[in-house]
Amino acid sequence: MSKKPSTIRIGRRYRANRLDSPYDILIIGSGIGGLTAAACLARMGRKVCVLEQHYTAGGFTHSYDRNGYEWDVGVHYIGDMGSDKTLGRRLFDYVTDGELEWAPMDAHFDRIFLGEESYDLVAGKRAYRDALVAAFPAEESAIDRYLERLRVARGAVRLNVLGKVLPAPAAGLLAKWKGRKIPGWVNATTREVLEELTDNQKLIAVLTGQWGDNGLPPARSSFLIHAMIAQHYMHGGYYPVGGASRMAETIIPGIQRAGGEVFTYASVEEILVGKDGAEGVRMADGHEIHAPVVISNAGVFNTFERLLAKEDSAGRHYRERLTHVRPSMASICLYIGLRHTAEELGLPKTNFWIYPSEHYERDLAALDEGPGAPLPLIYISFPSAKDPSFEERYPGRATIEIVAPGPCEWFEAWSGTTWGKRGDDYEALKERLSDQLLKALFDKLPQLEGQVDYYELSTPLSTDWFCRYPRGEIYGLDHDPERFEQDWLKPKTDIPGLYLTGQDIVSCGVTGAMVAGLLTAVQIGGLPGWLLAKKMLL
Ligand SMILES: Cc1cc2nc3c(=O)[nH]c(=O)nc-3n(C[C@H](O)[C@H](O)[C@H](O)COP(=O)(O)OP(=O)(O)OC[C@H]3O[C@@H](n4cnc5c(N)ncnc54)[C@H](O)[C@@H]3O)c2cc1C
Repeated sequence: MSKKPSTIRIGRRYRANRLDSPYDILIIGSGIGGLTAAACLARMGRKVCVLEQHYTAGGFTHSYDRNGYEWDVGVHYIGDMGSDKTLGRRLFDYVTDGELEWAPMDAHFDRIFLGEESYDLVAGKRAYRDALVAAFPAEESAIDRYLERLRVARGAVRLNVLGKVLPAPAAGLLAKWKGRKIPGWVNATTREVLEELTDNQKLIAVLTGQWGDNGLPPARSSFLIHAMIAQHYMHGGYYPVGGASRMAETIIPGIQRAGGEVFTYASVEEILVGKDGAEGVRMADGHEIHAPVVISNAGVFNTFERLLAKEDSAGRHYRERLTHVRPSMASICLYIGLRHTAEELGLPKTNFWIYPSEHYERDLAALDEGPGAPLPLIYISFPSAKDPSFEERYPGRATIEIVAPGPCEWFEAWSGTTWGKRGDDYEALKERLSDQLLKALFDKLPQLEGQVDYYELSTPLSTDWFCRYPRGEIYGLDHDPERFEQDWLKPKTDIPGLYLTGQDIVSCGVTGAMVAGLLTAVQIGGLPGWLLAKKMLL
């Protein structure tokens, strides 16, 4: 039976005759980074046109519905939303005019299962530490030294972010100063840093139990991304009331107020570059839209491998730079619907991170055996339990999402086929993987057996189809140490008028991509941009 398309549509459907040219700025992609840049620039009086190829706006922050259920794609929890003093919360309040509300998760926001044992991460700096010390009393000193290392890394992250928007001479001076002040270990691998503090592998596994939030196990990720994520969630997890699509829904009116628009079904084919720099874009329907500034929120691989003409020399230069970065993890996700409320089913407001053991890197090798091998990580999220508005919007129903690594090689045979029409053998493979994920769910919550009303599995091919990541890379670029050495990953490109934004510029995660959106707006905005930076950052 063919699947019915989702009815959630945020943004306006593109038609060339609906354009209200001229625009000051074109943005390719309506991910949260692109929308944030658009919203900030609109508040500086710029008329911005956002072009999104999908049928709904938001990129990975979009939601979809089917068969009476609604799910999010790339938003399970956001940190730092409990205080209006944090950069993330200030940014959200600014771009949504305070229209987006947040609901806290359980104080025990993440539960890490290592085989049969489990450990909770608990919200609040003190409670976080105390829960770790209670679980590992002999490691108290290592835990305190770890927390101190997070603090040092936080300073390094701030300088990295600042360096992305400073003019070249100032950025050079900052880099030199940073070299003297910031210890080299901040950009060593997470495992290297932690093994300097302790040889307790279980403690290391608990501290790095959120590695799925960036897609690289501790032996491969930079300690910088580990520190960003650990601190981001240290005060607990929050969920947008009304679901992830409320983000785009509450941001778009501010863009429209300045004369701008967010178009969906608007696929950009090429960035037009003349002798003086970027001049606009050519759409998939052949229509050209001209503007002096183009921002790409489509990720650096898409921007430099697909959207810039091959003969463009600056583009060629970037293609060489791309050899220093790698696409991040691809995943499968099971979207589940149940005909009872979250409360009736006893669903928690806690995310489950299920690992076969504390040996993350060793267990990951099983993926090479192909589909059906034991999964090295299964992540379970309970969105309907987290969203206080769900019960009113979907009475008597509940949803669950289960994510696991799913290499794009597993699905290569169907690459280039059409969503919903990939054939019986593809459906059979998805069924096998779904069974594997459901088994993990029932193992942890046996009361759910027999209660599942509907489920469907997405694969890296779905990620490409809906969000244009050709290798299914859910976090854009890998967050390994080499990535953090790439000084070209910043808003301003070598091509005048062409800018970048989104998760490849600062880091993955909704607030990482939003900070990139802010930086891009600051870079383009001139004095009003710097005033906005002051308002947000100080
Ligand atoms: C399964 C999953 C779970 C996640 N969970 C969380 C979480 O719990 N918390 C959290 O903070 N983060 C989470 N993330 C990460 C977070 O969602 C992303 O890092 C962030 O949303 C990326 O934003 P972005 O601005 O880079 O744009 P993206 O969301 O990557 O959007 C880019 C947009 O560009 C569009 N595009 C590309 N090419 C073109 C073109 N040629 N023409 C027009 N449009 C184009 C795409 O269609 C897409 O909509 C998760 C991600 C995934 C996939």
